[in-house]
Amino acid sequence: MAADAKAKTATKKRTATTARKKAATASDSPFRNFTPYKPKRNEEYMSEGQLAHLREMLVNWRHDLMEEVDRTVNHMQDEAANFPDPADRATQEEEFSIELRTRDRERKLIKKIDGTIERLDQDDYGYCDTCGIEIGLRRLEARPTATQCVDCKALDEIKERQLHG
Ligand SMILES: [Zn+2]
Repeated sequence: MAADAKAKTATKKRTATTARKKAATASDSPFRNFTPYKPKRNEEYMSEGQLAHLREMLVNWRHDLMEEVDRTVNHMQDEAANFPDPADRATQEEEFSIELRTRDRERKLIKKIDGTIERLDQDDYGYCDTCGIEIGLRRLEARPTATQCVDCKALDEIKERQLHG
């Protein structure tokens, strides 16, 4: 029995770690290994090369998220209904609901990425939606779905806090 309980705790710990890792993947800056774009001297902002680079980042990011969603679904199918003990089932349901929320976030993010790729293809990319200035290559590399410059984004967040905080 003691060994059994120990094994159970170990399983729980592992699952918690997996859930944390997944949450991190769904965040807005998921890029583990990409080479920052080096613009040539006098290269204009959002040149063809820069657009191709950012497009590739968006496509890769989308691909990773899709894989993550598939993994979550498979994982849930594999693990479903393996526990006869109601307490274990409750734990499992809790884990599933966390996974479902993560998956929901990932789906929303995929939609946002799709919209961003569409805008990029229509040459409507890289400039602040609010004030019209260049968002900046480095900021876009960190957040390819950004639609605002740092200043407008910060301002909006302050307004948001005042409204709801
Ligand atoms: Zn702006």
